[in-house]
Amino acid sequence: MTVAAKFDVAGIGTALRQRLAEISREHRQIVAEAQLIRADATSVTDFAEDGAMASESEQDDLVASRLMRQADQLTEALARLEAGTYGVCQECGEQIAAPRLKAMPHATCCVGCQERQERLMR
Ligand SMILES: [Zn+2]
Repeated sequence: MTVAAKFDVAGIGTALRQRLAEISREHRQIVAEAQLIRADATSVTDFAEDGAMASESEQDDLVASRLMRQADQLTEALARLEAGTYGVCQECGEQIAAPRLKAMPHATCCVGCQERQERLMR
């Protein structure tokens, strides 16, 4: 059988879709909040407060783009699940450990490759 047969495909699919729904909800909230802050900021005349609000909306932008990346990863994980390549490290082609996938269902590489990449980024 295919690699995916080792996994609870339906269960993982449900978990991924739930997380994806949560993320898109969070993302909508953050975007709405950032818009409110910007709308507020234009009506505020105090410069110090204005600056604080600007950085707050920048924070929201950061969070929003992080959520978008997470959503992308989850969408990819779902696609791999359907293609039967889920749980295979994209770097070395080895199986990703089950506990890691449980903690991080969207993981695209094994712990070893992840650590190597993080070392390279530093
Ligand atoms: Zn690997």
